[in-house]
Amino acid sequence: MSFTNVTVITHPVIQTKLTEIRDFAADHRKFRALLDEIASLMVYEVTRDFPTKTRVVQTPLEKTTGAVLARRVTLVPILRAGLGMANGVLRLLPEARLGHLGVYRDEQTLEPVSYYQKLPPDVSDTEVLLIDPMLATGGSAIAASSFLKKAGVASIRFVCLVAAPEGIQAFHGQHPEVPIYCASIDRQLNEKGYILPGLGDAGDRIFGT
Ligand code: URA
Repeated sequence: MSFTNVTVITHPVIQTKLTEIRDFAADHRKFRALLDEIASLMVYEVTRDFPTKTRVVQTPLEKTTGAVLARRVTLVPILRAGLGMANGVLRLLPEARLGHLGVYRDEQTLEPVSYYQKLPPDVSDTEVLLIDPMLATGGSAIAASSFLKKAGVASIRFVCLVAAPEGIQAFHGQHPEVPIYCASIDRQLNEKGYILPGLGDAGDRIFGT
């Protein structure tokens, strides 16, 4: 199955770390470290076409022109598992501000329930990276993107580690213009909404719950 507006980052270093993080024997310390590293590595691809503007810089020898990001960046992890990727992204984009969106999945209905929202006041003028390690049913990502759009955000990129085909279809059914970046499109969801083969419950594995 091929999808438009989805970038699978196939870099061998990311794929190696993804394989390690899938291993059920990776404890929360190792899982956290790997997720953090993968998130950092993904930033290169996710920001590849960010607009830049020229800036004059004085080297020790002479003046020259360089490039700097033209727009500010806001990182929006979807709580709670998105927090596991936040520091890795911030390492590469230390000027970014952080918003938070709390969405959990009702275990019975599998529907998203929104419980917390906090965004920087001028978020609409920034490039937003919406992050959550797992794109499963798509419910949380859809709800979070709708919230960001209502807040006036025009440029959103959704960054996850593993995506399910069902989640991509559902997400792009509602937000087709929002690009998805992931390290893998896995086979399918199971009846409980978990991604197969996946890596289990990312939140539980990050936080050791
Ligand atoms: N959320 C997770 O953490 N894992 C899945 O497989 C699906 C949703």
